[in-house]
Amino acid sequence: MAGPDVQTMPLHGLLIDRFGRVVRKLRVSLTDRCNFRCVYCMPEDAEFMPRDELLTFDEIERVVRICAAMGVDTIRLTGGEPLLRPGAAEITARLKRVPGVRKISMTTNGYMLPHLARDLKRAGLDGVNISLDTLDRERFKRIARRDYIDHVYAGLRAAEEAGLAPIKINCVVMRGVNDDEVADFLRWAREFPYVVRFIEFMPLDGDRIWQRRLVFTMEEILERAREVGPFEEVTPDRASPARTFRFLDGRGEFGVIASVTQPFCDHCDRIRLTQDGRIRNCLFAVEETDLRALLRGGADDAAVERRIREAVWAKWAGHRIDASDFVRPERAMYKIGG
Ligand code: SAM
Ligand code: SF4
Repeated sequence: MAGPDVQTMPLHGLLIDRFGRVVRKLRVSLTDRCNFRCVYCMPEDAEFMPRDELLTFDEIERVVRICAAMGVDTIRLTGGEPLLRPGAAEITARLKRVPGVRKISMTTNGYMLPHLARDLKRAGLDGVNISLDTLDRERFKRIARRDYIDHVYAGLRAAEEAGLAPIKINCVVMRGVNDDEVADFLRWAREFPYVVRFIEFMPLDGDRIWQRRLVFTMEEILERAREVGPFEEVTPDRASPARTFRFLDGRGEFGVIASVTQPFCDHCDRIRLTQDGRIRNCLFAVEETDLRALLRGGADDAAVERRIREAVWAKWAGHRIDASDFVRPERAMYKIGG
């Protein structure tokens, strides 16, 4: 693939890459810390960054303001576990007030929601994705390496009571681990106001246990969903990583994020800001752009904007997880901000 041609990179207007994709969404990681140790994400003995390496709220707000001026309108807060960052509701409110930001949502393990859901709602949080990979307590203990399933259920209730909407459940499906629960999940979600989104297991785990055969594929997930009832695909939102399906009896929707078997790179409209201030132009990027040094080195907004534009311009056409020449990124999911 040819290197980025910085000569023709636009210096004004929308944030665009050399394949013509426009960036509209920014995922902001608030921390790499987490109180769970999900086997597909983090090693048991994870080491976390010193706190002074994390971007401050002022720095995060500044980057979001610069991105919003280039057309980014949707923010997702993530981590690690974003709700472990003290002041998570405060930064939510600050980012929601940035001119141009329309929507702000969060991906969380749910543990802190009983304490924070109301504050987050007041702060302007629009929707929340809560991770839950099994409905079985013993299995939960094996996957998250913590006996916290009741905390997650309490978090779901708290999100509902606080009026956060939509509430989506993220469920990573791994062959031989929880693939037998796909139909159970769908039946369960049909009783509650949740949309379940099944995610193919990606090679971003901290323990490097990923193998292609552990990926329970979108096709297999749809086969299991047929046990629950007939469904149809909802008109695709091409910029969404999930393909969405609706049961024909009208009781519920579900999604599948097939990052491994059916990547959505052609329509990707997102970039990531890591907790330590790196721009990642792809979840699977092997190179990053350091904004923190610029932010802390007294650079003006124009210089920061230019660096972000260059990072986006350099974005590749797509990752190649399913290809033999795929190179795993150094960072595991909890350090990227999934
Ligand atoms: N701690 C929060 C949570 O678990 O929701 C937010 C961060 S977590 C890294 C974001 C999402 O990435 C979660 O839904 C999690 O299930 C998913 N995830 C983590 N590692 C993954 C992997 N190797 N493959 C697919 N999804 C993964
Ligand atoms: Fe923590 Fe989320 Fe990673 Fe699980 S997936 S270890 S909850 S960051």
